Amino acid sequence: MTRAILIDKTDDGQSASLTDVTLPALEDGQVAVEVAWSTLNYKDALALTGAAPVVRSFPMVPGIDLSGIVRESRAPSLQPGDRVVLNGWGVGEKHWGGLGERAHLSADWLVKLPDGISLKQAMAIGTAGYTAMLCVMALEAHGLTPASGEVVVTGASGGVGSVAVALLAARGYRVAAVTGRMAEAGYLTGLGANSVLDRAELTGTPRALGKERWAGAVDVAGGVVLANVLSMMAYRGVVAACGLAGGRDLPTTVTPFILRGVTLAGVDSVMCPLPDRLTAWQRLAQELDMSKLEAMVTEVPLAEVPAVAPRFLDGQVRGRIVVPVN
Ligand code: NDP
Repeated sequence: MTRAILIDKTDDGQSASLTDVTLPALEDGQVAVEVAWSTLNYKDALALTGAAPVVRSFPMVPGIDLSGIVRESRAPSLQPGDRVVLNGWGVGEKHWGGLGERAHLSADWLVKLPDGISLKQAMAIGTAGYTAMLCVMALEAHGLTPASGEVVVTGASGGVGSVAVALLAARGYRVAAVTGRMAEAGYLTGLGANSVLDRAELTGTPRALGKERWAGAVDVAGGVVLANVLSMMAYRGVVAACGLAGGRDLPTTVTPFILRGVTLAGVDSVMCPLPDRLTAWQRLAQELDMSKLEAMVTEVPLAEVPAVAPRFLDGQVRGRIVVPVN
């Protein structure tokens, strides 16, 4: 038996609570991880509230992220005592996840944590922060450098956005942070933003082309915000699109692509191949200012996770939430 959040579904609806669960038996190729820390991301909130069909089978232990110590291994690549981090791979959706004291996971899904990142810091980063780094990598793979011009980050006060602002600023980019919460302007400049824009500037009906403002973009919003960002990209600008906090539609035209050579680069963290994950985590260890990470973090006890999750859907979470588990 182990303690975990369990999501269940009955004819009366969906419920989530802290309870005792029995894990499935450990199989060849798997390891047993004692979870030290987990976290909450937007997707966990969708799973916990049932707002979107993230959970594919019930009952489900949610949690797309965890960090911890390998306690038992039936795979040659990992040994008891190894410090590991897990992001995605359908964990918390199809496979029991990180919001519990212990998890049985395929060794192929786990990244050995680089020296210099603690188990807590790994979850302060979490899928949101690792995705922010994948976005930076996507922008740079398309030729963006600090000399190219300013980079805009939408949903900047959220998890992906906060880490993206800090990472880009640390690499010497000028960063424009877009937020629906102008009260967080001081927080965002503290993370390294050069300017803070009210999201309302990007929610009007998008024009085919607007003034050229940005060389790069990290977008967590989708919808009309992404359409406006695309119309305001400078010639040969590049946009890393990873989210749908503002909607999954994209009311745009091909004009930015065919007249300005703008690139729309999609970013997926869930099935991202291992070499890119290793690069992302190594770069996070080297480039992320850990004092800025500290400023992003709020701790939420495991038992309070179901009550906190709905705040994501209202856009009310600032930065990152970490969950101490063991
Ligand atoms: P958060 O809830 O922490 O951040 C989202 C932020 O988006 C909010 O804090 C808010 O920031 C902003 N926002 C909220 N509502 C709207 C709206 N209607 N229009 C525009 N912006 C809005 O979530 P995460 O950072 O964890 O995730 C962000 C998005 O990225 C989610 O859609 C998530 O599913 C996606 N994601 C995708 C991944 C992938 O693999 N592709 C991996 C990780 C996340 P503010 O108040 O500052 O505007």
